[in-house]
Amino acid sequence: MHRFLQRILKKSGLDDRSAPDDFTWHAFLQKVSAIIEDYEEDRYLLERALEISSAEMEALLASSKESFRQRMEALLRVIPDLIFYIDEEGRYLDVLSHGKEKLLYVPKEQVIGKTIWELFPEEYAHIFDTAHKQALEENRLVTVEYAMDIDGEKEYFEARIVPTYQKEAGKRTMFGIVRKTTSEVRAMEYLKVIRKIFKEATEGIMIAPLDGSKPEMNEAFYRMIGKERDKLERFTMKEFYSMFPKNIGKNIENAIRSIGNFQGEVIIKRERDGDLLTWLTIDSIYNENKDAIYYVAMLTDISEIQKSRDSLRYHATHDKLTGLANRTLLFETLDRILPRTIRQKEIGALFFIDLDNFKEINDNFGHKIGDLVLSESAARIESVIRETDLFGRLGGDEFLLIVEDIQNSDHAMHIAQKIIEAIRKPFEIDDLEFEIGASVGIALFPEDGKNRDEIVQHADMAMYRAKEEGKNRFEFFSKKLDLKSKIHFQIERMLKDALKHNGFRLLYQPQIELETGRVCGVEALLRLKEEVGEISLPSHFIPVAEESNIIHDISRWVFEECCRQMGIWQRQHGISDLMMAINLSRRQLLDETWIDFVVEKLDEYEIEPSRIEFEITETTMMKTKKGGYKMLKKLQALGCKLAIDDFGTGYSSLANLKHFSLDKLKIDKSFIDDILTNESDLAIVRASVALAHALGLTTIAEGVETAEQKALIQTLGCHEVQGYFFAKPMDPADLLEWIRK
Ligand code: C2E
Ligand code: MG
Ligand code: MG
Repeated sequence: MHRFLQRILKKSGLDDRSAPDDFTWHAFLQKVSAIIEDYEEDRYLLERALEISSAEMEALLASSKESFRQRMEALLRVIPDLIFYIDEEGRYLDVLSHGKEKLLYVPKEQVIGKTIWELFPEEYAHIFDTAHKQALEENRLVTVEYAMDIDGEKEYFEARIVPTYQKEAGKRTMFGIVRKTTSEVRAMEYLKVIRKIFKEATEGIMIAPLDGSKPEMNEAFYRMIGKERDKLERFTMKEFYSMFPKNIGKNIENAIRSIGNFQGEVIIKRERDGDLLTWLTIDSIYNENKDAIYYVAMLTDISEIQKSRDSLRYHATHDKLTGLANRTLLFETLDRILPRTIRQKEIGALFFIDLDNFKEINDNFGHKIGDLVLSESAARIESVIRETDLFGRLGGDEFLLIVEDIQNSDHAMHIAQKIIEAIRKPFEIDDLEFEIGASVGIALFPEDGKNRDEIVQHADMAMYRAKEEGKNRFEFFSKKLDLKSKIHFQIERMLKDALKHNGFRLLYQPQIELETGRVCGVEALLRLKEEVGEISLPSHFIPVAEESNIIHDISRWVFEECCRQMGIWQRQHGISDLMMAINLSRRQLLDETWIDFVVEKLDEYEIEPSRIEFEITETTMMKTKKGGYKMLKKLQALGCKLAIDDFGTGYSSLANLKHFSLDKLKIDKSFIDDILTNESDLAIVRASVALAHALGLTTIAEGVETAEQKALIQTLGCHEVQGYFFAKPMDPADLLEWIRK
C-alpha cells in the first residue's frame, strides 16, 4: 500500500484489520476526496502557467529586442563620436555613424570593407595598426591621439580601441571610437598661453572665486601687495580692500557690490616697502544666470609714470632759470584763489615786478651775466616775502607776486617797498658791479579786476606807470586809467612783446617805372605777425609806438631787416639794382643816434647808401624844425635818397619843398582813387607832377588799382607807380616769384 495511504489510514484509525465504523470511514473518504480536489486544482494551475509562457514569451522577447535597439540607436546618436567595428587586419566591418556622417569626411559605403592601409596615408595607418595590435594582444583599451590636415586646416583626433569577444569570419574584432578634439586641444593651448601670461605678467592679477575658495594670484600681485606667497595663508577680497586707504577701500567695495566693477588710481598701503601707486581694475565674471562667480583684480604699478608725470608737471609749471613758478602756475593759482578771496571777503594783491635797466645789462655784459642777475634778483625778492606767498617769473625780467591776504593798501605798499629795497642794493657778479632797480605795479583783487586776465593787466599797467614816473618805484592800479589808455597800453605791450619775440615782419611792395615797365624798387611795409595779435596794420600801431619810445626800437629793427634782406637779394639772387623805400618816423628825425645806427648797418651788410630811400610824410616834413632838418641833411650827405610821402594831404609850401632838396614825390593814394571821376583830384595830380618836374623830382603815384588809372597817370607824365594793380605788399619769397614772372 502506498505509504501516504497507510499514514492516512493510521491517522484515521483504519490500519487494524477490523472493519471501521461508519463515522471513521466517512471521515476517511472525505479526506481522500479533499486531497484529490487539491491535486486537481494544482494541476490546473500548473497547466495554465505553462500555457501563458509559451504563448507570450515570443512577443515579450521581440519587444525587449526592439527597445534595446532603439536605446542603442539613441545612445549612438547622443555619443558625439564615431564608432568603427574593425577586424584584426584593420578592415572596417561596420561604421556606427548615426547622424554624424559629416565627421566621416567620405561616404560610409566607401569605408566599409576597406582597411586602414587603403584608407589612410601610411604614417597614419601605421599608428592605427600599432594601436590595434596592442589592444588585441594586451586585451585592453588603447588610446591614440593624432592630428590630420583636413581641407587645409589642422584637426586633432583621439581614437580608442577596445577588443571584443566577437569573431567575424574567424578573425578577432575591435571597436574603434574616434573623437574630434580640435576645440579641446585649441582650448588647452589657449589655456596654456593664458597661464603663461598670468604667471609672467608685470601686472598683478588676482582671480577670486565668489564661492569662498582660495583666490589665485600671480607673482606680480604678491609683489605689489608686498606679501610673500608662502607666508600668506588666506587672502580674501575683504583683506584686499583693507590694503587701501580706509574710505577708498570702502568705495571700491561699494562699486563692486553695486555695479560689479571698479577702476581707478589707488595707493596700496604696504607694511614693508611703503606705499605704492597703482592703477586698479576689478571686474566680475558671470555665469549663464548672470550671477557673479569670480572677481578679477588687476594692478598696474604706475609709480614710475607718476614720477615722470610729477617731473613733467614741475617743468611745465616752473621756470628753468630761477626755479620759480612760471606763468602757468601763477595763472592757475590766481584762478584758484580768486573765488575764495571773493567768498571770504578778503583782499588779495598782485605785484607786477619789472627790473629796471635789465636790457642794458643783458646787451652790455651778455646773457650769462643777465641770467645771473635774474637769479639773484629772484633770490633777493624771495628773501623778503613770506613762504606762503606765490612768487614766480612771467618771463624776461618780469616777475609776479601773489599775496592772498592783504590787510589794506598800506600793507601792499610795505611789501612793494621791501621788494624795491632788495633790488636796489648793488649787484656784484663776476667782478662786475652794477645797480639795477625794480618797478612794481600793484593790483588788489577783487577790487581791481573780476578775473585773472584783468588783474594781471591792471597790475601790468600800474607797473608801466611806475616806469613812466621814473622807475624804481611802485604804483597802484587806478581806475582812472580810461578805456583809451587801456587799448593804447595793450598795443604797447604787444609791440614790446613783438620786439622781444621776433613778432614783426616786413612785406615789400614793388614800384614800377612806367616808361620801361621795370621794377625799380620796393617799399618796405611793416606788419605784426598773426600770432602776436589781431592788430597787424601799421596805421594802428605806428601812432602808438610813436607816442612811446618803442618806435626807436621798431625803426631800428625795420632798417636792419631791410639791409639784411637787401644783402640776401644781392648775394643769393644777384639783385642789386632795387631801391629800398623805408618809411621813417618823425621821432627818428630827432633821434641823434639814428644816423650812427644807419651808418653802422649799411656797413655791416655792405649796402650802397644810394639804394636806400627814406620816406617822410608831408605832414612830418611840414612840422620838421631845425633838429629834424639836420638829420635829413645828414642822411642825404650819406648818399641816401629822400621821398615825400602822402603828398597832397598836408599843406606844404613850395618853399619848403625846395628847402629840403628832395628826390621823389609820392602822390597820395586818395587822389589816385578818384582820378578818373573827380576833376579836382585830376587837377591836383596834374599840378603835382608838373611841380615835381619843375623841381627836378621823380614822381610816383601810390595806390594804383586799375589799368585805367595807370593809363591816365602815364599820360600825365608820372614816372613811377605803386599799387594793387601791379602787386600787393608781399613777403620776400613771393616777391622773388613775382619778379621772375
Ligand atoms: P604809406 O607809406 O603811404 O604806404 C602805402 C600804404 O598803402 C601801405 O599800407 C600799402 O599797403 C597801401 N597800398 C599800396 N598800394 C595800394 C593799393 O593799390 N590799394 C590800397 N588800398 N592800398 C595800397 P600799409 O602797409 O598799411 O601802411 C600804412 C602806413 O603805415 C604807411 O603808409 C606808412 O606811413 C606806415 N608804415 C608802414 N610801414 C612802416 C614802417 O616800417 N615804419 C614807419 N614809420 N611807418 C610805416
Ligand atoms: Mg610810404
Ligand atoms: Mg603813402
